[in-house]
Amino acid sequence: MIRTDQSDYVGRFAPSPTGPLHFGSLVAAVASYLEACQHDGQWLLRIEDIDPPRQVAGADLAIIRALETYGFEWSGPVTYQSQNRARHDDVINTLIADGLAYSCACSRSDIGGPVYDGRCRNLQLSGKHAIRILTGNESIRFADGLQGKYSQQLESAVGDFVIRRRDGLIAYQLAVVVDDFDQGVTHVVRGVDLLDSTPRQIYLQKVLGMPTPAYLHTPLVLADDQQKLSKMTGAEAITFTAPRPTLVAALRALWQQPPPELGDNDMHDIWSWAKENWNTKSLKGKKSVLQGS
Ligand code: GLU
Repeated sequence: MIRTDQSDYVGRFAPSPTGPLHFGSLVAAVASYLEACQHDGQWLLRIEDIDPPRQVAGADLAIIRALETYGFEWSGPVTYQSQNRARHDDVINTLIADGLAYSCACSRSDIGGPVYDGRCRNLQLSGKHAIRILTGNESIRFADGLQGKYSQQLESAVGDFVIRRRDGLIAYQLAVVVDDFDQGVTHVVRGVDLLDSTPRQIYLQKVLGMPTPAYLHTPLVLADDQQKLSKMTGAEAITFTAPRPTLVAALRALWQQPPPELGDNDMHDIWSWAKENWNTKSLKGKKSVLQGS
């Protein structure tokens, strides 16, 4: 995307290479891209490759090729989150040195539920352990661009959460905050399945003295049987042979109203229509939309 003015908007699409791009992730990418275009902003593409056990070889290239085929234009080179590993470790080590994060030796069965009770907080364990960030119970509040007001009290809702895993891998919550900051991201547009991660990310931003971007969480796309489409449940890769009708279907899933003949136009014209007519009003408050339309 070419920057046409002095807009400070920096958006991004940050897929994990755990499988090919499916229709649900296409819809999130379209929303993120159109928001950035409408604000004459930049739109970055970052591959979040920090969890090798969940990754599929070649998925990064398949995602990039799909985005190219669908006519997305990102700003600058594609970046890989794993390249920022040293920086992630620096941030974690500083948090530990400042007494804001600590080692935890508990196993999943020790914890026994979704909320960690902080039992390792004061043990000063040494050795190879998970690292958790200290949380408090003040309410973390934000207003989402589509989902409205959202708040969470971290200590009682999740407890001190992991920022580096016992196997040494950096946790998503930490990496996403650091990378969004390092890349100057001002607007995060992504699927609503990450809405409940957002308070943890805002908390980390506060602790690290980083500004909080604006958030807009797009509805999940459900198959017509109401099941969520996701890479983990093996949702189909989007087609490479008929991208135009699929792009138009993505616009329809996002409650845009493309004229029936739009799919007969070339990709450039479909995007021109989409950029000119992008409007999120009818998506307000929607947690899910149906794939077919
Ligand atoms: N990498 C995450 C995913 O594919 C998305 C991260 C984000 O947009 O914050 O689910």
